[in-house]
Amino acid sequence: MTPATQGAGQGFAELGLSDTILQGISFAGFDKPRPIQVQTIPAAVDGRDVLGLAQTGTGKTAAFALPILERLREHRKARPRALIIAPTRELATQIAEQTRALARHTGLRVITIFGGVSQRMQTGALRRHPDIIVGCPGRLLDLHDQGYLHLDEVETLVLDEADHMFDMGFLPTIRRILKQLPKRRQNLLFSATMPPDIRGLASEVLRDPHQVELAISQPAQTIDHALIAVAEDRKRDLLDRILRREDCRSAIVFTRTKHRARRLADQLWKGGHKAIALQGNMSQNARDKAMQGFRDGQYQILVATDIVARGIDVQGVAYVINYDVPMTAEAYTHRIGRTGRAELAGQALSFLTPADKRWLKAVQKMLGAEIRRHKEKGFDSGYNERNAPQQVVAGAFGKKKDTKAGPPRKKRGPEPGRKRGSRRGAARSGESPGGGGGRRPGRKPAGKRGGRPRSR
Ligand code: AMP
Repeated sequence: MTPATQGAGQGFAELGLSDTILQGISFAGFDKPRPIQVQTIPAAVDGRDVLGLAQTGTGKTAAFALPILERLREHRKARPRALIIAPTRELATQIAEQTRALARHTGLRVITIFGGVSQRMQTGALRRHPDIIVGCPGRLLDLHDQGYLHLDEVETLVLDEADHMFDMGFLPTIRRILKQLPKRRQNLLFSATMPPDIRGLASEVLRDPHQVELAISQPAQTIDHALIAVAEDRKRDLLDRILRREDCRSAIVFTRTKHRARRLADQLWKGGHKAIALQGNMSQNARDKAMQGFRDGQYQILVATDIVARGIDVQGVAYVINYDVPMTAEAYTHRIGRTGRAELAGQALSFLTPADKRWLKAVQKMLGAEIRRHKEKGFDSGYNERNAPQQVVAGAFGKKKDTKAGPPRKKRGPEPGRKRGSRRGAARSGESPGGGGGRRPGRKPAGKRGGRPRSR
């Protein structure tokens, strides 16, 4: 170990990584390996296949990127030697960025390949002999079929968020890509959940895998999550109140549909919030701008559909708000995992309407616990389940124990037009070319909102 890597690389050095890679780790600012890295890296550096059951936020990107860099760093070839397949463009971009940082001293080239953007840049990048390709299934296969992407020298394949890729209907495309890869190769498969289809894929693809399992489908300990019962037509007012909290420096607000995300972002913007939508109808360029703007603090609120629910890592998101509850219990864990990342505390709130009764049962069953209820003064519960847990715990959403019921509940029927959108359809848009214009709120906020400094 060189002096430069001492300290910063401590712990990582014991995982079988060389100086060049330790310097990259130092550059990325990682001090100590995370559990998933400790458990994965040595086996993967040895060339073993790995089956990793881990949610995002655990450090799994470095867990697969570091062994790849270690194994590729010795020599370079004209054709790509590692292929990382991810479900969404945002995730692919993020993986590539992290891998590039870690590869800083190796001279290895990392590029991204995904749909929704012109392929010219990507074919150009492919001609410059990249070592590592990070991409989404559709465009990868396209460029392979057009003869731009050569997969016959791939030594390591990563399937990241395999369950998400399955949900998005990518499995047939992935199988076609697999056929183009050399039979002898290393395979690393990561998934937050292990439904039977993914188990099947894993047993097809992996040989005698080293298995790593980390807290599946449980929200991180650092996330304080709660439900607020609210009538559908009071959701916006409730959201406005929460967004104006002192501690709400930044928030991701999830809606059920692309249309709702766009409309809500517009409404928030008009109400003086620095909000931007991120949804699958937006062009890639608009999506990148929204994400970047949120990352660097230009926007405080990202109103998103599930395309960003998984894998996306934005430091310091204070609140995740499920304006509409997600389709499944797993999606709940993924969404709320956007906060409380990297061991920072975060808060997640889900707006619960009477229509969400079955959802609540399913999610609580999965978690094996009741989700805390928070009552917000002045808001109808709108939710009337007899045996719903009633305890209100003091904490992130109220300094004192709030035992008072809100004002009398109005009787109301089911939300007009409440239909569940297709999870598949919504998710698939993650890689579909933009086409919805990607409109962001078109005007500047009416005035600056006082007292809400951005601290990300
Ligand atoms: P991931 O699960 O790969 O999305 O990683 C979640 C976050 O943890 C990312 O922001 C990483 O940069 C960060 N991270 C990963 N490994 C470490 C580490 N060993 N030390 C500090 N931060 C890390």
